[in-house]
Amino acid sequence: MAVGPTALPSAADHLTERSVYVSIGVVPMLSTGQPDTADAIVVGGGTVGAWCAYFLRRSGVGRVTLVEKRTLGEGASSRAAGVVRTQGGTRWAVQLGEWSRKFYLRQHDEIGIDSGFTQQGYLLPCFTQADVAAARDRMAMQTALGLSVRWLQPAEVDELNPTLAAGSTLGGTFCAEDGYLSPPRNVTAYAVALATSGVQVRERLACIGLLTDGDAVTGAATSAGPICAPLVVLTGGPELAEVAALAGIRVPTGGVRHQVAVTQRHPDLHPSRLPMVFDLSAGLYWRPEEGGMLFGMSNPDEAPGAASCVDEPYLAQMRRRLAELVPVTAGLGLRRVWAATIDYTPDHLPIIGPARVKDRTLNGVTVVSAGGAGMMWGPGVARAAADVALTGTSDVVDTAQLGLDRFDEDGNSALTADPIALPFPGHAPRRGSGRDEPGRPPPGRLTLS
Ligand SMILES: Cc1cc2nc3c(=O)[nH]c(=O)nc-3n(C[C@H](O)[C@H](O)[C@H](O)COP(=O)(O)OP(=O)(O)OC[C@H]3O[C@@H](n4cnc5c(N)ncnc54)[C@H](O)[C@@H]3O)c2cc1C
Repeated sequence: MAVGPTALPSAADHLTERSVYVSIGVVPMLSTGQPDTADAIVVGGGTVGAWCAYFLRRSGVGRVTLVEKRTLGEGASSRAAGVVRTQGGTRWAVQLGEWSRKFYLRQHDEIGIDSGFTQQGYLLPCFTQADVAAARDRMAMQTALGLSVRWLQPAEVDELNPTLAAGSTLGGTFCAEDGYLSPPRNVTAYAVALATSGVQVRERLACIGLLTDGDAVTGAATSAGPICAPLVVLTGGPELAEVAALAGIRVPTGGVRHQVAVTQRHPDLHPSRLPMVFDLSAGLYWRPEEGGMLFGMSNPDEAPGAASCVDEPYLAQMRRRLAELVPVTAGLGLRRVWAATIDYTPDHLPIIGPARVKDRTLNGVTVVSAGGAGMMWGPGVARAAADVALTGTSDVVDTAQLGLDRFDEDGNSALTADPIALPFPGHAPRRGSGRDEPGRPPPGRLTLS
């Protein structure tokens, strides 16, 4: 069913995201019997936890158990837009993006299946002189790290991207190697990787706490009983703070609504005419999908909290912005639209580091978040987390500053936030805050004309 921009369907009529877990739910992933010991336990079967469990096995860990309270991919990971951008605003973002992109490219050789990565090219347009100055500084940092990003003059932007309203930019940065993957296919890929590498996957099993002896972990308590292990990796995406709190670990991450829509097909939206674009000032991005355009957005004024229904007024607002920049979309109906809870960290940077309980390190526990960038950074974050869990360091990225000790009591980070991020809440969620509890100051980055 296609719906016009002025005749949005009711929430009940919305086509939802493709639910990969519905199809893989019938695949017998459940290992039989409850193991009572393992060499490592990973909590969470999203892209971060699953690839981490796989990399732990690849590093030679014998018995790796993955504990997932629902089914694999049932969190944010199956619902993402799939954007893989190496043009990050910090060296961590660039390195994690590059490592992940290269992993997606070699997956087929390594595991016989891939996440459907398509190299499409990604444009970050500039609309003000301040945008241009920031983009040029960023490009210098990115090229120094080996990224093949280049500056496009306004006329080159128009030539490369004929769907964009001509003359609307002051130029922009472009990386031809950026692209997108298929999130459901990524879940299938890691499900296969887990099965073939011998990770014991325990679906519908919740972690309900950690077992400790002094300052060291000795295992995890689960809804079906304890599992002993000297190493535990905690993931959880938008629910990471809750997972960590079960063990008394304070993690200042949260979740907030993010929505994605796909327009009907149109010849002007053919992939050859449509590089991916991130309109940073509006927090709006788009890419080709099924002959139409997929676009996604977060509302920076929205309070954190779990969300699964579409905010139609905000969607309409974003459609107006999109129509200004890509006029052909103005008259197009929507084929699919969905909302889901996206994870965020206060500084839009990943968390990869040891668990801390009241200023003391809990040995053997590694806490991991991809900070809302699990498609673009997920495998890199997962490999770095596996490395840190086993050796304390990683050659994927320097994790020395990415641990929980960068946050103060209120969740404020000692690091400068990554400037190339969705307009997520710009600070730590308040304790016990929810959608019905106003008080979060908006970061004020959204500029809609
Ligand atoms: C609509 C949307 C669009 C997005 N688009 C993009 C994009 O284009 N590019 C990009 O890079 N990122 C994107 N993201 C973000 C990306 O999807 C996430 O960063 C990523 O999926 C996080 O992976 P994860 O494994 O940390 O979390 P999840 O995928 O949420 O997995 C966490 C898992 O932990 C499980 N769990 C929770 N509590 C427990 C417990 N107590 N015991 C056991 N298991 C538990 C959950 O059931 C869940 O399966 C998007 C997100 C959304 C919602």
